[in-house]
Amino acid sequence: MRILIIEDEEKMAKALRKGLEAEEYSVSVAQSGEEGFFLASTDPPDLVILDLMLPQRDGMEVLAALRQKGVSVPVLILTSKDTVRDRVCGLDAGADDYLVKPFAFPELVARVRALLRRGRPESVDTLRLADLEMRVTARVVSREGRELALTAREFDLLHYLLRNQGRVVSREMLARDVWQETARYTPLDNVIDVHVANLRRKIDEPFGNKLLHTVRGVGFVLREEAS
Ligand code: CA
Repeated sequence: MRILIIEDEEKMAKALRKGLEAEEYSVSVAQSGEEGFFLASTDPPDLVILDLMLPQRDGMEVLAALRQKGVSVPVLILTSKDTVRDRVCGLDAGADDYLVKPFAFPELVARVRALLRRGRPESVDTLRLADLEMRVTARVVSREGRELALTAREFDLLHYLLRNQGRVVSREMLARDVWQETARYTPLDNVIDVHVANLRRKIDEPFGNKLLHTVRGVGFVLREEAS
């Protein structure tokens, strides 16, 4: 598995490289956003670790440019700007996860593993249910041929529901598989419900037949129900 680190601080880059190589990953380092963008777009690695604070072209610009080019490699953002706004920005811009500096190395490794698991190529690139369609690599969702604007998290949530269509998924499954939250110190139920409601507003509300159903006391299911 190849990991590209885009980080200008030499000490940090060196430490990351050393630690990840010890975990048997093949690691390369880019010290500027320009170089990072070039490497990631010409020969996409399996994962990009992207620092936000970079000289010239900052991390957010690099990320936006990569996604615009259709490079769908998982991106883990490193940020010292620990504000909710920055996090939301990063995730909306197409990042898959973020980590706030300073962080513990085992935490980084855990996130890297989770992202690499998730990033494994799907055997099917287009998922469908009724007139709802998802092109996974391009990260495009449409219904009745109309493109829908989803946030990164809504996309991941829908992706999971589509892969499990017809099957009831619990909030616990969503916490584990979509939010990568294994230890439930902080119950995610409210967060999950808000995201499900937002997703429903986008994929169901404007359309005739509803696809995303709540199963009371259990969870949610994405399926076409006979009217
Ligand atoms: Ca930096």
